[in-house]
Amino acid sequence: MSHALRIGGFVPFTSIDYPEQLSAVVFCQGCPWRCGYCHNQHLLASRSTGLLDWQEILEKLHRRQGLLDAVVFSGGEPTLQKSLRDAMEQVKNMGFKVGLHTAGCYPDRLQALLPLVDWVGLDIKDLPENYLALTGAGGSGNQAWDSLDILLGADISLQVRTTVHPGMAKDHVEQLRTNLSRMGVTDHRLQACR
Ligand code: SF4
Repeated sequence: MSHALRIGGFVPFTSIDYPEQLSAVVFCQGCPWRCGYCHNQHLLASRSTGLLDWQEILEKLHRRQGLLDAVVFSGGEPTLQKSLRDAMEQVKNMGFKVGLHTAGCYPDRLQALLPLVDWVGLDIKDLPENYLALTGAGGSGNQAWDSLDILLGADISLQVRTTVHPGMAKDHVEQLRTNLSRMGVTDHRLQACR
């Protein structure tokens, strides 16, 4: 039996985390990468005090059936946790659409989860060769771009998001946009680094 999902935060109602759907957001604890601009530093450690109870969140979601369209798993990096699959199955069985925010750290796990997922927001931080300096993790560029390949080859709604960090010149951003467009990305959002 898998362990319960470790959760560092929960937003019961939002209209901005899944396109055109009212959703709740589950912030999963833990991320294998360490981006300097991460604005969710408290979610990075795999273990932490003050975690929320998944059963209590399920009860809250149960009370919102018919009011919410979707549940979004965000983080941290949700695919870090093996128990994500069970959690997705549970909310899917409750009639919610399933959204996933991911940085694409684990392409194989992402692939395995796709039958359960209705929409993905994928962070593409930069061109693959620039990832190590951003994330501190060897191989992270290939992992993220392999995840993009998988999603583009799947029948799934996809939004690619890029945080424009201080080291990114305008022509660099344009190069990234061009590469993504050539690969077939039709929904690419830039967001400012906070
Ligand atoms: S991948 Fe996302 S959650 Fe993880 S450190 Fe980078 S910005 Fe933060």
